[in-house]
Amino acid sequence: FESKLPRIGTNIFTVMSQLSIEHKAINLGQGFPDFNPSAKLLEQVVKAMNDGHNQYPPMAGIPALRDEISAKMETLYGHFYEADTEVTITSGASEALMASILAFVQAGDEVVVIEPFYDLYVPAIELAGGRPVIVAMLPPTKTNPLYQIDWQKVRAAVTTKTRMLIINFPHNPTGINLEESDLDALERIVNDTGIIVLSDEVYEHIVFDQKRHQSLARREALAANSIVVSSFGKTYHTTGWKVGYCCAPKELSAEIRKVHQFMVFTVSSPMQVALAHYMKDPAPYMELSNFYQQKRDRLSLGLAKTRFKPMPSQGTFFLLADYSQISDLPEAEFARKLTTQHGVGVIPMAAFYGRPDAIESNHQLIRFCFAKQDKTLDDALEKLALV
Ligand code: PMP
Ligand code: GLN
Repeated sequence: FESKLPRIGTNIFTVMSQLSIEHKAINLGQGFPDFNPSAKLLEQVVKAMNDGHNQYPPMAGIPALRDEISAKMETLYGHFYEADTEVTITSGASEALMASILAFVQAGDEVVVIEPFYDLYVPAIELAGGRPVIVAMLPPTKTNPLYQIDWQKVRAAVTTKTRMLIINFPHNPTGINLEESDLDALERIVNDTGIIVLSDEVYEHIVFDQKRHQSLARREALAANSIVVSSFGKTYHTTGWKVGYCCAPKELSAEIRKVHQFMVFTVSSPMQVALAHYMKDPAPYMELSNFYQQKRDRLSLGLAKTRFKPMPSQGTFFLLADYSQISDLPEAEFARKLTTQHGVGVIPMAAFYGRPDAIESNHQLIRFCFAKQDKTLDDALEKLALV
């Protein structure tokens, strides 16, 4: 048979986590917390199971959870999504992304993605028979230490063949976020072209330095053409539950649900019931940015005392660091060496490029995850200081 994804192997997060386990390294690679979710949330899951929520929930998710999401979106971002027809609970953000891509991308369609990008998008486009059109971010300069989107390049990449534009902010792995001016630029592109925007906002509640998350749901013109995706995994420290959701206008949601109902049909019932209760309290997600900002600062200040050069992170639970003072090795090899010989697992930034092995994808940057207990970060810093 002919492989539908000939260039795809086991993904980098799995590979690097496995390597960390084998070498007993501190795993700052794959993005997941090394601490438990709130006891209150866990109690709600047990309660839901004991209360009999153990059979198939409705296909699009339990109504109470969809209501909570709808209310939250309206309060935080000002757009009303009808819970019945416009909010869908999915098996993690991953399924929401995959179902959205499969629902709209037809053979020969182009989909614009911004590089560096999360590893799911391109294989999903290819499975749908589409063609990814990759637009590179502008790299940091001496005067601006952040990656930036070149919206003119994005606009130029959108043609009559383009079905969809995929964006992700706060951005994994660069940690950049959108400003108002970015929403303006995006709005102009959507107005000009009518393109569907798939907006991966899984880190919506992890935005630092008193900035606010620029959800596409904040602008009516964008919300009308966008699928906004999020994940409880990042917000409530439950990456292993695989519960996420997407919000989109009725006509778009209906198509996504057609795929969802045959891909997974529905999502774990007790988790949904528990999340619906837990979401009533805004404190956990409103406090999340501060919680992670302290961890970002702990790692960043610690790295500044080593030969690694941390880059700024405006959001997510990741930061990039430059290792050019330490080694000339390409990123993948350096990440391996750090894991196997120095006891700290990380992710090479090149893994987020269309051609991870190409020389131009190598920037001597590695990604650290700081969703870890302070002690874990301190132990890792101790090891990194010796590199
Ligand atoms: N998008 C991005 C940018 C992510 O970092 C992740 C989490 N690794 C996902 C999507 C997938 O989220 P989930 O685990 O909820 O499927
Ligand atoms: N999103 C996580 C990361 O960026 C990994 C998820 C996965 O392993 N597929 O590290």
